[in-house]
Amino acid sequence: MTQSRLVLQGNWSEPVSSGNDHDAYLKTLERFGCRCQYCGLETRSTPQSPLGYFDICVKDAALSNDPINWVPLCKICSDLNDLTKLYRKGTFIEAPWLSQGRLTNLLIIRYGVAFRPEEDWGSIKNACEQFGLAIDSTPREWDGVAWGGEPEKLLSLLDQLVHPLENQSYANKLRFRFNADAYEDAIRFWASGMAVKLQAITGESV
Ligand SMILES: [Zn+2]
Repeated sequence: MTQSRLVLQGNWSEPVSSGNDHDAYLKTLERFGCRCQYCGLETRSTPQSPLGYFDICVKDAALSNDPINWVPLCKICSDLNDLTKLYRKGTFIEAPWLSQGRLTNLLIIRYGVAFRPEEDWGSIKNACEQFGLAIDSTPREWDGVAWGGEPEKLLSLLDQLVHPLENQSYANKLRFRFNADAYEDAIRFWASGMAVKLQAITGESV
């Protein structure tokens, strides 16, 4: 494994769904209930966006590119297999208490709330603001380090660690806080109808 393939989350392949095998991609999406196999986000297939802003990837890059090894992943999780795809799309934070999948879900909800103010989000709106406050500050330990969590600088930061073994263990503490505008079209698509669903889950009346 090269440094540029520093394992952030999972070890899935590049998307295979850029090819022409549209029926097979759609079948894979449906086989998994239209859910991202990393973060659990649910999408839907429409004529304009048959894969609902998801990619189809080989579930482990070491396996053969055979439909039996394919899984659907949302665009964000799909990008998490490669540091270079995250450049200028957000920053890393230290949040070992939160899984990347959970953070991805919460950010999608938070940005979805912002993108669709006309929807009745109930108390979810306030919860998103509180969550934002909790994750938007840079760790104080970073004050003396020339790093603000930018993906572009992560590899050079890891090189500065004295013990190579610390590289992956430090990377394991990091979570990627993507920006809203990096995935705006996808989040707008996923957020449609989300308020009603979330309120059903939290037991709030709509
Ligand atoms: Zn996902």
